[in-house]
Amino acid sequence: MNTNSPIRVRFAPSPTGHLHIGGARTALYNYLFAKAYSGSMILRVEDTDRNRYVEDSAKQLIKDLKWLGINWDEGPDVGGIFSPYIQSERTKLHRSHAEQLVKIGKAYYCFCDKVRLQSIRSKHKGYDGHCREIDADTAMERVTSGEKHTIRFRSPKQGTTTVDDLIRKNITVKNKQLEDFVLFKADGFPVYHLAAMVDDHLMEITHVIRGDEWLSSIAKHALIIRAFGWSEPIWCHLSVLTQPGGKGKMSKRDAKTKEQDDNHSIFIHDLRNKGYHPEAIINWMALMGWSLDDKQEDFKLADLEKVFKLERINPSPAAVNFSKLDYFQGKHVRQMSDREVAASVQPFLRKSGIVPDKEMLLSLVPLIKNRIVTFEDSVEWLSFFFTKEIMISPSEFTNKKSTQEETLVILQNVKLTLEQLQEFKHESIETELRSLAETMGLKLGQLLNPVRLAISGQKVSPPLFETLEILGENLVHSRIEKAIKLLENI
Ligand code: GLU
Repeated sequence: MNTNSPIRVRFAPSPTGHLHIGGARTALYNYLFAKAYSGSMILRVEDTDRNRYVEDSAKQLIKDLKWLGINWDEGPDVGGIFSPYIQSERTKLHRSHAEQLVKIGKAYYCFCDKVRLQSIRSKHKGYDGHCREIDADTAMERVTSGEKHTIRFRSPKQGTTTVDDLIRKNITVKNKQLEDFVLFKADGFPVYHLAAMVDDHLMEITHVIRGDEWLSSIAKHALIIRAFGWSEPIWCHLSVLTQPGGKGKMSKRDAKTKEQDDNHSIFIHDLRNKGYHPEAIINWMALMGWSLDDKQEDFKLADLEKVFKLERINPSPAAVNFSKLDYFQGKHVRQMSDREVAASVQPFLRKSGIVPDKEMLLSLVPLIKNRIVTFEDSVEWLSFFFTKEIMISPSEFTNKKSTQEETLVILQNVKLTLEQLQEFKHESIETELRSLAETMGLKLGQLLNPVRLAISGQKVSPPLFETLEILGENLVHSRIEKAIKLLENI
């Protein structure tokens, strides 16, 4: 690579399913590196493996990336000078490049059919080189006559291949471990190894930043590039992400392990649907294998765009720690204005069938801001403010400390006290209920618990005095009255 050329990186997802945090982190690091060095970010959809192709997943990937705030300068949706950016629309280019390698003796046509390949599999580790020595003219004739074939790379059989990785340093592979792998398939599609290397070259990619799962293919990739006589990009294989909980490498199959409870999933769209803020996810992912100085922990996307350096990527495995995500989310929510929180909470209330009054919602935000993690959590905290009828069964009013009769007396007294208030404000509600508890010889909690249950239907609620004020005199009275009737009629 010419080090003076402008930096060009790419995120090259295969549309085989939803975007997960492994892919999203790779996209993020590419994006940040491009931003920090005024380079270009390219999105290339690698869809040549038709067996694994999932309809619509490219669209979903784009949606998830954009939601996270990750953008690109060239890609299928925005175009660019190296169009097309959908790999399956570039197969002619891949084919001609594979043929070019055949012409210079670095690849050859292979006519072995599935049955033969299967029969040799037990004896050989990989392809046995059966078609390697067919002379060029004969092979060409067979191809022109329409015989089914693939194109295979003529791998060196001796020596070693060494590749330099910015993060992993020198990686050396013994060439005898490499089989003559397929570059172009009989179905008219290239194999990923060829397609990616050809496209990286044609798109003038300077740095390949990608997941560690590609480390095992690095020798193949370097050999393809060297066979063409091209210069190599700077390789940068990221650290392994380990499973939530710490055991073993993360994979898409972990999506529903027990470490991932209802809120936690490795898929970006699940996290969005649960009500995580994209900035919290970005902050969390950025630190999974990268750090600025081992101290600073809070980052916004805009900060990262200025300070990101590849040299600070850590090669050791990084754990997927969901408590850390919750921590960043909580922090983020508390930094938001009340209006922003109200706007973020609203869609989740609506999804659960609640159409909140905007002003009321805004007045409630300070009560829950320190209590929620995800925006979806707000539904549990707030729904009783907006529902007409709350459901309570009388048995919920009894506990170790009070019988139903005692609870009834408490609620009757609370009702009287509240009715006598001059002003239905949390300060006066608090003063009067505290003195009522004293007069009745009760602990404050003993007095407030049945009130909380009566007005919210729940054992937990936002701070009660403020809650009563916001619910308003009428609703509070009618709910307490309803609870009293319920207890009287047992
Ligand atoms: N299409 C490959 C994937 O989905 C990209 C590998 C690469 O970045 O070279 O993982």
